[in-house]
Amino acid sequence: MMAAAIANTSVSIQDLSLNFGVMSVLKTLNLDVAEGEFIVLLGPSGCGKSTLLNCIAGLLDISEGRIFIKGKNVTWEEPKDRGIGMVFQSYALYPQMTVEKNLSFGLRVAGVPKDEIAKRIARAAEILQIEPLLQRKPSALSGGQRQRVAIGRALVRDVDVFLFDEPLSNLDAKLRSELRVEIKLLHRRLQNTMIYVTHDQIEAMTLADRIAVMKGGVIQQLDAPQTIYNRPVNRFVAGFLGSPA
Ligand code: ADP
Ligand code: MG
Repeated sequence: MMAAAIANTSVSIQDLSLNFGVMSVLKTLNLDVAEGEFIVLLGPSGCGKSTLLNCIAGLLDISEGRIFIKGKNVTWEEPKDRGIGMVFQSYALYPQMTVEKNLSFGLRVAGVPKDEIAKRIARAAEILQIEPLLQRKPSALSGGQRQRVAIGRALVRDVDVFLFDEPLSNLDAKLRSELRVEIKLLHRRLQNTMIYVTHDQIEAMTLADRIAVMKGGVIQQLDAPQTIYNRPVNRFVAGFLGSPA
């Protein structure tokens, strides 16, 4: 039987469990993300953030539960058919290709017409301010520029949902705060759904509409940043992010 999808829900995770062998990494987890919402998954290393993101992306098979994207059950869909774009901590660019080829590669494979590819690349390059870099190879780019290109690859695919896994962790403090602002502006401009993994409290507080604080494969609290800060539901959340009790 199909569960009724919740109206205006972009990503719906229902009773999701994931085990690696005997280890239970995600424990009957539920999360509904609204259309256009910026959700941050925040928690210490090893709490299951990347695992959850990879389940949404279809890069891991889940043990139990269901995942809906835009009302469609995608639990057993291929990653490419889920309408998601993913940006990783390591940039995962093709080193032998120019920036332009990096941006167009997936689209050419998918059979998108040439003029449409050119249009999408021009738009992404303008939004991310990487026009002057299009003919360079990744080795000639700074870390921040590479990460812009990585975001560009998700952008040109015209996806409904962006998934970010600690995209700023490899950058120095100055670039990190610059790119953080840009990701926020990007969200304002595109108004698409973003699910963003980090262990950095400042990133979470500044980017999120709502933060899901995770520990041990369980969402401890899901609320707006101010609510979590002012009214943490337990000591763990208070210690990790909230005001001192
Ligand atoms: P986070 O991203 O929050 O740091 P992860 O989702 O990467 O955490 O990992 C959650 C838990 O699952 C950790 O205990 C980790 O060691 C374990 N884990 C992650 N990937 C695998 C895997 N492929 N095989 C076995 N255990 C894994
Ligand atoms: Mg991780």
